Amino acid sequence: MPLTRRTFLRRGALAATGSLFLPGLAWADDERHLVILHTNDTHSRIDPFPMDGGRNQGLGGAARRATLIQRIRARHPNVLLLDSGDIFQGTPYFNLFKGEVEFRTMTAMGYDVATLGNHDFDNGVEGLAAMLPHAGFDLVSANYDVSASPLQARVRPWTIREVGGIRVGIFGLGIRFERLVLPELHEGVVYHDPVAVARDTVQTLQRQGCHLIVCLSHLGYRYRDDRVSDVEIARLVPGIHLILGGHTHTFMDAPDVFPHPHDPATVVHQVGFAGIRLGRVDVFIGPDGTLRRWLAHSLPVDARWDVA
Ligand SMILES: [Zn+2]
Repeated sequence: MPLTRRTFLRRGALAATGSLFLPGLAWADDERHLVILHTNDTHSRIDPFPMDGGRNQGLGGAARRATLIQRIRARHPNVLLLDSGDIFQGTPYFNLFKGEVEFRTMTAMGYDVATLGNHDFDNGVEGLAAMLPHAGFDLVSANYDVSASPLQARVRPWTIREVGGIRVGIFGLGIRFERLVLPELHEGVVYHDPVAVARDTVQTLQRQGCHLIVCLSHLGYRYRDDRVSDVEIARLVPGIHLILGGHTHTFMDAPDVFPHPHDPATVVHQVGFAGIRLGRVDVFIGPDGTLRRWLAHSLPVDARWDVA
């Protein structure tokens, strides 16, 4: 049977369950290599799911995720760690400590950049702003105008990280507040159309000389109705290399790939929820500064990463 990219990636994801050996990872001398690690909808899941017979029992856990991230960093100098929102809400850690535990845990893991999900507003703009001193990473949202809110000092439309000579532009997209966030909880934060904003932001990041453009999205993977989603952004906005999604808690066996006639293909990936999986996208930049190839995996976060 011919090994298509899709089956290869699926096999890659399975092969990765037992070790950190990833097939296809060797790179050429003239390539620069970057590892992008990502999560979404971690929802205050600091501890693994309890052994209560539930579907996710024994899975996840922030300490295990930290170990896995550490092992990958020990092998690869160029790593970015990203999150696509809904960090807050889901366990008593949030009810008791209002986000401090989540932000401090992510800071200790060395997160670089995150975007905002609807649940990150569950204690209002003031509640979120009060926790930001605990977040030692950048927050990006290009379509939430925060200029009239206390988030203004910390939330930027986009950021650029230069890692191993690779210039990475990272921007965020947030979901419409209607029916998700009460007006009083997002006071001063204004939602704008993600498609128009994404087009503008991509142009800005291209002008800034980025080799790679990454969108951290909390729009959701795909909908049956006309709500804007990661798939819509991938189709309608050329120039984005990678959309790392959230909100719909979608466990993807393999990423989706959307080709564009005059631009590089857009890859869409999402790793479910609750920190049960860690996403890993390896990108390889050629000597001309363009993306030559990539590999994507979903790495399970489970008891094999317990430190004895
Ligand atoms: Zn959400």
